[in-house]
Amino acid sequence: MKSEELFERSKKIAPGGVHSPVRSFSSVGGTPIFFQSSDGALLYDVDGKSYIDYCQSFGPLLFGHRHPEIAEIVTETVNTAWSFGACEPYSLELAEFITKRIPWIEKIRFVNSGTEAVMSALRVARAFTGRNKILKFDGCYHGHLDSLLVKAGSGLAGTSSSDSAGIGEEMVRNTLVLPLDDEERLTELFKREGENIAAVIVEPLPANYGLLPQRKEFLKKVSSIAREHGALLIFDEVISGFRVGFFGMAGDLGIDPDLVCYGKVIGGGFPVGAYAGKAKYMDLVAPQGKVYQAGTLSANPFGMRAGLATLTKAWKEKPYDSLEKSCNQLTGELVKILNTYTDSLWESINYGSLFWFKEKTEQIVRKVEDIPQGHKEKFAAIFHIFLKEGIYLAPSGYEVGFLSTAHTHSVIQDTIDRAERGLKKYQNDKNKS
Ligand SMILES: *Cc1c(COP(=O)(O)O)cnc(C)c1O
Repeated sequence: MKSEELFERSKKIAPGGVHSPVRSFSSVGGTPIFFQSSDGALLYDVDGKSYIDYCQSFGPLLFGHRHPEIAEIVTETVNTAWSFGACEPYSLELAEFITKRIPWIEKIRFVNSGTEAVMSALRVARAFTGRNKILKFDGCYHGHLDSLLVKAGSGLAGTSSSDSAGIGEEMVRNTLVLPLDDEERLTELFKREGENIAAVIVEPLPANYGLLPQRKEFLKKVSSIAREHGALLIFDEVISGFRVGFFGMAGDLGIDPDLVCYGKVIGGGFPVGAYAGKAKYMDLVAPQGKVYQAGTLSANPFGMRAGLATLTKAWKEKPYDSLEKSCNQLTGELVKILNTYTDSLWESINYGSLFWFKEKTEQIVRKVEDIPQGHKEKFAAIFHIFLKEGIYLAPSGYEVGFLSTAHTHSVIQDTIDRAERGLKKYQNDKNKS
């Protein structure tokens, strides 16, 4: 197995053998697969085995791997424009495309990752309000910036402690943390801290700790209470933007955020992030304003052109309803099979083309503490059964799955057949032992 050899080599020179933690399989056990190439819904590993891919690079690939129309534009870019560190028309086209269509966005700034987008949006919010504190919700992920790698503190409601080594207490002192889905504590916290809060940041579809769809009333309350107290509402749509619909969760909810953060789909598989909003906020950013933010490779032509090709295609073809249907069909069948061949009762939480398998619960899970015990281990078992049959899920029970338009009916049927074959074998082996 070539993957095992490569992982042994990699462990010697990269921490944990990887360049981003979830890739290491530390959550599911075993050795990570090394992939060589990809095409549409498929991945090919270094041993030549193929997999149907439901990770899709953690979301960016709305149209699957290397879609021919996008590949053509990328190839053209190879022959015309790599990087200038100067003005170019490509970012202008993408910026105009977005600002013309999304009503609450007047100005946008491109960066290189979701993390950078969030970090910069917080800086703008602090500059605009002259306040220091940021409110976030437990179970929402916003990238790896110091001030948001926090968990709820054990003391006073809303306090926090760092969730990673190497983060000074002073970095998280101004971050307040609340559970999702709790209007009462939200109201109580704003009563106490309202005048110090620069911004509330939320994943309007929390999708980094399983999939925790929120009640619309809760998000409306988050929005209204922020406005009442003069705090900015920041939607982190790095995962949901252009993925659940062209207008993201803001569109689905009918809530206009003050600032929005994008990543993933906006770069069509290349490293792009963006933060955006009304001009009165964005005009604070340098060189127009005093909020410094810069980037050597920002608005890189590859990301800008792949992003524009992806968003143009999404705008024209509106693949969202059909993606949702495919997602429901796939997960409906998989849940039936899982319930037939395993001892647990499963369900799939879906939103658009995102899905998350978990043990069935009486009530919809909307916050971290309600995720069933033992979820990680249950998922790990399924993950490996699927992997053996050539179905690749993100290697953690807390990551969601993604469909792309490359997941056609026949790919979905193939997935269902493979899953059933794997689970049957699993049941037979269990009966034998
Ligand atoms: C992926 C993600 C980020 C971080 O983006 P990176 O490009 O990995 O830095 C931030 N917020 C959300 C909601 C995400 O899903």
